[in-house]
Amino acid sequence: MMKELICDNLSVNERDHLCLGGQDTVLLAERYGTPLYLLDEDRIRLQCRTYRKAMTEAFGEKALPLYASKAASFKQIYRIMWEEGMGVDVVSAGEAYTADSVGFPMERAYFHSNNKTDADISDAISRGIGYLVVDNREELDAIERIAGGQGKVQKILLRLTPGIDPHTYEAVATGNVDSKFGSAIETGQAEEITAYALKLSHIRLAGFHCHVGSQVFDADVFLRSASIMLEFVAHMKKRYGYVAEELDLGGGFGVRYLAEDPVMEIEKNIRIIGNAVRKQCAMLEIDLPAIRMEPGRSIVAEAGMTLYTVGTVKRIPGYKNYVSVDGGMADNPRFALYRSPYTLLLANRTEAADAEEQMRCSVVGRCCESGDILQENVKMPQSVARGDLLAVLTTGAYNYSMSSNYNRIPRPPVVMLAGGESYVAVKRETPEDVCRNDL
Ligand SMILES: *Cc1c(COP(=O)(O)O)cnc(C)c1O
Repeated sequence: MMKELICDNLSVNERDHLCLGGQDTVLLAERYGTPLYLLDEDRIRLQCRTYRKAMTEAFGEKALPLYASKAASFKQIYRIMWEEGMGVDVVSAGEAYTADSVGFPMERAYFHSNNKTDADISDAISRGIGYLVVDNREELDAIERIAGGQGKVQKILLRLTPGIDPHTYEAVATGNVDSKFGSAIETGQAEEITAYALKLSHIRLAGFHCHVGSQVFDADVFLRSASIMLEFVAHMKKRYGYVAEELDLGGGFGVRYLAEDPVMEIEKNIRIIGNAVRKQCAMLEIDLPAIRMEPGRSIVAEAGMTLYTVGTVKRIPGYKNYVSVDGGMADNPRFALYRSPYTLLLANRTEAADAEEQMRCSVVGRCCESGDILQENVKMPQSVARGDLLAVLTTGAYNYSMSSNYNRIPRPPVVMLAGGESYVAVKRETPEDVCRNDL
């Protein structure tokens, strides 16, 4: 087994083709064209079941995982989440609309964002969203006013920052005191906003939320944030007689982009967190709240792969080699944004990676932009040439959802793989689609 097969849904078949979920990527590329997003639906369902089972065992029947749908948002994913009994996080009226449009039960939807507009709030409340996760006091006032206007009482969670640096990329670290997200416990602002929320009549405070960061491999980060949050829950009970029904511990479990990344075992880590949380609740003499977790990346990332066709291969002797593909930053901006690592493989002849001399290259896209890089310092067989099929692994999260039409490039389709079959979940865009709103 090649060490680059970093997830157990990857394999190589007898024709030396890379397979995802047991399906031949060369055949899929022939059938659907490139660039192509693939998503292994069986894997996505497995991740959902793993979270649900682990959370029920660790925290009891009231626990619920919420899929953080910004990781990959389109109609079919909400149908799958509904079927799997998950809740969902949405972060915009667009995501809320997408979920609602397929009949997702909106009482199980949580609306996030650090800056909800009046229009967002009004739209969410009239859709019957279960929860607004409130970032700050201005939002509380806006919800009080808008829910009042609709004659409703809106359930909310308050987003708090437990003051934890999850030792992760700064751009995705959100749990520290100086974050743009939430109210800090350390500065007293969390207590202030809680006291304020409890006085409002069109708001029902259901509990508290935190999310400390992303691509976290260390269970200790979750233990520390859970512990700080539980102390806060206990403090609110003592101080105001307020009993939080729900505690949302956020998302952030890491996934493997490279062979050297560790495996974050979902069951094991949730069990560890569950044991610590139960023990601390007993110590603090509070009831165990209904626990929520919000996995995004760890539900969909490893289910995903992007296929590209190789075009120009440029060698600049003494300097650099470039392998260009028929996609790039428009379908995956993550290297351009965060220098995110990825594993890249030749999908149509994987043996070349072992059999031949390798060259170092930058794999670049076709946008008119020097920063249009998918990955630098990639090892590719010397013989890589126009027409080869190149796979980027672990692209299920934050690729399609972050894609753009830069250079008026139509977005690739999303093809789902389920039970040995494949089907289109999002159609390939056409140039007409890209011009749809032009007058
Ligand atoms: C992005 C986000 C998540 C999901 O994070 P992952 O790293 O994808 O698991 C969960 N909760 C909130 C509030 C988020 O913003």
